[in-house]
Amino acid sequence: MTDAAPRFTGSFTQQEPIPEDAIEAAVAVMRHGRLHRYNLAGDEQGETALLEQDFAAMTGARHCLAVASGGYALATALRAVGVGPGDPVLTNAFTLAPVPGAIAGLGARPVFVGVTEALVIDLDDLAAKLQEARVLLLSHMRGHVCDMDRLMALCRDADVTVIEDCAHTMGAAWRGVPSGRHGLVGCYSTQTYKHVNSGEGGFLVTDDDDIAARAILLSGSYMLYPRHLAAPGAEAFETLRYDMPNISGRMDNLRAAILRPQLSTLADRVERWNARYREMERGLWQVPGLTLIERPEAEAFVGSSFQFLLLDWSEARIARVIAACAERGVELKWFGPEEPVGFTSRYGAWRYAPSVPMPATDRVLAGLIDMRLPLTFSLEDCALVARIVREEVTAAAPSPEAGRG
Ligand SMILES: *Cc1c(COP(=O)(O)O)cnc(C)c1O
Repeated sequence: MTDAAPRFTGSFTQQEPIPEDAIEAAVAVMRHGRLHRYNLAGDEQGETALLEQDFAAMTGARHCLAVASGGYALATALRAVGVGPGDPVLTNAFTLAPVPGAIAGLGARPVFVGVTEALVIDLDDLAAKLQEARVLLLSHMRGHVCDMDRLMALCRDADVTVIEDCAHTMGAAWRGVPSGRHGLVGCYSTQTYKHVNSGEGGFLVTDDDDIAARAILLSGSYMLYPRHLAAPGAEAFETLRYDMPNISGRMDNLRAAILRPQLSTLADRVERWNARYREMERGLWQVPGLTLIERPEAEAFVGSSFQFLLLDWSEARIARVIAACAERGVELKWFGPEEPVGFTSRYGAWRYAPSVPMPATDRVLAGLIDMRLPLTFSLEDCALVARIVREEVTAAAPSPEAGRG
């Protein structure tokens, strides 16, 4: 790298501001003061109940519950399908820490399933482990959707219930079916780094009356479930209301007000994310030693982050790329190093959940590079980021003809 080499000066963690109409809606809630979701005046329906109705319509789900976080949605879904202490739950070896955390939080035990070079759950490994559990908590990590037709067929045959973690796939689909609508329950996050931003928050969707009623009671509905607009009728709660503990984790009207205008413009943001993703892809096309991630045709994804592989590179060479890119302002995350740095997305790092080493998965994770693509980046920013990565990968590439020459 010479002094003339361009640097990138954007921030990988800066999201767009909250839109003006959402700010106005939030201010209106603060002005009237009824922030608690069940604190309604007259025939008011409340921002939270309306948000649930909006999200149910968007995903085509019969029922929707808005909650305090994505992790809370996962834990509630697991509880609602009957997972309890000691139960094994299948889940991805490559996902974010709140996923195994939701399982461990119930006293249940994660059983990890490997990842492929396409960064999706390894369906052969899943098939081999299906007998070990009755529930799969499937994480569409970094927005990569596996062959959902095959996954659902495998799980149906083995009588395994599927809960989907759609923290990175809100707005995505597989063969036209929205992500989160294949399994019994779909869970989403509305945390700042996801596809809509309320600071913290989450959703759970399902078509199942019983699961929806359980989730609403668990979330702390104080028997006010008739005030929900995307919920089953009162009869679904009749016996459950005595059996479900209250584990408070409700969404509030302030965050719901911030989210509703954002939901209505999600499709537009998805398009802008994907334009940025494609710009990155173009800039990294056919760089020797760098493997781009295949995106299947059936997958409609949301390119809010970008991954590539430096497969079978030595740790030292990858470390060189990371350092050289960092020096030029490009923040890459690497899943390779033994000690997790600033993030934990690797099964081996979760010592509370013992695992058996998976060599094929370890090979992928050792070469996996990840970055965010916030909408505050312009297409030119993405082209520059791709150029910097391309130059530094080429400079550090192992084979002589791909190297400095
Ligand atoms: C963010 C995230 C979650 C949890 O969401 P929170 O709202 O932060 O609790 C779950 N799964 C994945 C893959 C995530 O990235």
